Amino acid sequence: MADIAVIGGGPAGLFAALRAVQRGNRVRILEKMKSPGRKLLLSGSGQCNITHAGEVRDFLSRYGEAGRFLRPALFHLSPRDLLNFFEQRGIGFETEEEGKIFPASRRARDILDVLIRELEASGVELVSGMAVSSIQADRDGFTLMSRGEVIGPVDRVILAAGGASYPSTGSDGSGFALAQQLGHDIVSPRPALTDAVIRDFDMEELAGISLRNCRVLQYRNEQLQARLTGDFLITHTGFSGPVIMDASRNIYPGDVLVPDFGGHGEDTEEIVRRFAEENGKKQIKSLSRILSCPEALLEKLLIRAGIAGEQRLGELSRKMRRLLARIIAETPYLVDRTGGFQRARVTAGGVNRREISPGSMESRIVPGLFFAGELIDIDGDTGGFNLQAAFSTGALAGDSCDQKDQ
Ligand SMILES: Cc1cc2nc3c(=O)[nH]c(=O)nc-3n(C[C@H](O)[C@H](O)[C@H](O)COP(=O)(O)OP(=O)(O)OC[C@H]3O[C@@H](n4cnc5c(N)ncnc54)[C@H](O)[C@@H]3O)c2cc1C
Repeated sequence: MADIAVIGGGPAGLFAALRAVQRGNRVRILEKMKSPGRKLLLSGSGQCNITHAGEVRDFLSRYGEAGRFLRPALFHLSPRDLLNFFEQRGIGFETEEEGKIFPASRRARDILDVLIRELEASGVELVSGMAVSSIQADRDGFTLMSRGEVIGPVDRVILAAGGASYPSTGSDGSGFALAQQLGHDIVSPRPALTDAVIRDFDMEELAGISLRNCRVLQYRNEQLQARLTGDFLITHTGFSGPVIMDASRNIYPGDVLVPDFGGHGEDTEEIVRRFAEENGKKQIKSLSRILSCPEALLEKLLIRAGIAGEQRLGELSRKMRRLLARIIAETPYLVDRTGGFQRARVTAGGVNRREISPGSMESRIVPGLFFAGELIDIDGDTGGFNLQAAFSTGALAGDSCDQKDQ
């Protein structure tokens, strides 16, 4: 039996603690906030998109380069295993059309309540309001400090203190400093799954308009960086929605985004020409029916082109048609910045994966130290991939942390 301290009571730490206690260890969770799981409660707008439909092999590409590192953890606790755990404890799930899985109650609170009930029943000690400020490793194990109080020595530490995004939930980057104290390298933390703020944005009155399967080209220094496709949202300050959020880890100030509000990448001018030929008496604004462009957005773009929406389609000259098509499908928008840590759902960067053994989550530098969750240099797409990674790495760390050869 080992004495184990878990730092951080988010999904990764809570699950790691549960698995470690089930193996007969003495487990304590040290959580900085007054209550655990604050970010979990915000997830999916409070509805908790806990994971995604599909097999583990379909998941791997959703974490960029970290997919390979996560493979053993995702097989250790697969999406199906995660759902089984909660189903056995009375939670039903629903899968949305595009694969996102939510509790049927649509309440993140129900997920957190199950975890807390299990922890209480299994004898894990949950110490809230305890921010760990330093860790030291020596031959006897680890000694932790919180507000001048010494905790320990403990045999093993599972560091699951989250990333640096949404600092109001407790994940304020302090876990990175703890890992650094123990000699770990931190890959520069960057906000991910966030929006793009557009320079001189003049579409704020259209905030809330969304487009399905919008194609967006991303340029840097006039070079095409990426062709993106996915659901797109106009905000008060720029663009968001899954297509932008998933790409945001690679969007930088000065990049140019070119959303195609016309024909999903088909030739917008040609679509307009054909429609105008067949519907010459209709008003120009009726184009919104065949383009992927909602009426309010089209009206805005028509104003930019200097065209009255009430004009007949038959009156649109070839030159005006070309101008309109360019404005709809080829307008460049300059990225001022991304939403930053205050608005980012997750943190890219974190504890260098090369210093962690993927089969156990143990540090390759400090034996007896384990990592779980967003603190590690992993970040996934929107759709439930980040919570799944937190639970899977937590389960693997909790199941590995008392093995004899460590
Ligand atoms: C608004 C929002 C919506 C989201 N929606 C989804 C979604 O629907 N689906 C999805 O998959 N992902 C979603 N995410 C991402 C997901 O919530 C995170 O990836 C996940 O919570 C990470 O889990 P974690 O346990 O690693 O870290 P966290 O949940 O951040 O937990 C870390 C814990 O450690 C504690 N802590 C930090 N430092 C210390 C310290 N020094 N001492 C003690 N305790 C410390 C913190 O207080 C915190 O409780 C969302 C994120 C946000 C912000």
